[in-house]
Amino acid sequence: MDLGITGKKALISASSKGLGFGCARALAEAGVDLVMNARGQETLATAAEAIRTQFGVSVTEVAADITSDEGRAEVLEAAGEVDILVTNAGGPPPGMWSDWDREDFIKALDANMLTPIALMKHCLPGMIERGWGRVVNITSQSVRAPVAVLGLSNAARTGLTGYVAGTARQVAPHGVIINNLLPGIHDTDRAVQLDQGVAEQQGITREAARAQREATVPARRYGTPEEFGATCAFLCSQHAGFIVGQNILLDGGQTNLTM
Ligand code: NAP
Repeated sequence: MDLGITGKKALISASSKGLGFGCARALAEAGVDLVMNARGQETLATAAEAIRTQFGVSVTEVAADITSDEGRAEVLEAAGEVDILVTNAGGPPPGMWSDWDREDFIKALDANMLTPIALMKHCLPGMIERGWGRVVNITSQSVRAPVAVLGLSNAARTGLTGYVAGTARQVAPHGVIINNLLPGIHDTDRAVQLDQGVAEQQGITREAARAQREATVPARRYGTPEEFGATCAFLCSQHAGFIVGQNILLDGGQTNLTM
């Protein structure tokens, strides 16, 4: 399917690995020029070069912390006008409800709620002026059903979801479409870290921890960054113009919901 976005420009934050990289790669495959970001310069440079070589699109790379004011300013300055924005950042650490203080909440809210909001506030006016834009926020299945140990994530991402619900309807009349993609367990470094945590907690191997988690997914496997990226690229395409303010679960059926 031709996604109809060849020659557009996309900013994908936190995209040197994992789900962000999957989105960057799929957009590049659709002919979109990219601005990629992560904190670690070396991995980012390798990821950007792999995409340039494979798809021949232009890729600007900005090594910066997207959750800091300075880092965000650097990324946005380098990006200039963008047609497509995919927001992403690292997730907060797991724990118990009693572990977290004000500072932990501020950090999580900054990374997983206020950063995507700041990126949207910067990019939306240009998209509205040009009469076309696409935004995809990478959130989490924890927005639909809580993952108890991810209380910081549950809180921050639900706040972002509320903001998007209203904002998506305010910008849709201008041809600007915002949706959220909600990953369940995907095969990325983050998943390996979570498996490692479970393994240490239960005194089992990481492979056994993974097998346990896979058994909780009706699809009986982890999702891949490639299939996540393909869905993101579709939501950024010309075909997605009537999908407004939705929260799309990509979780292999793990969240037990009828609707
Ligand atoms: P990942 O494989 O660990 O990749 C994270 C990417 O983000 C890396 O490129 C990392 O590069 C970059 N990054 C992290 N913090 C950053 C920051 N402050 N500024 C700029 N770049 C940053 O993680 P992932 O699995 O793709 O997860 C992406 C998001 O989806 C996370 O918020 C995660 O909580 C959420 N999620 C993931 C899953 C899953 O199963 N994978 C499930 C639900 C939700 P640097 O470290 O070099 O900055």
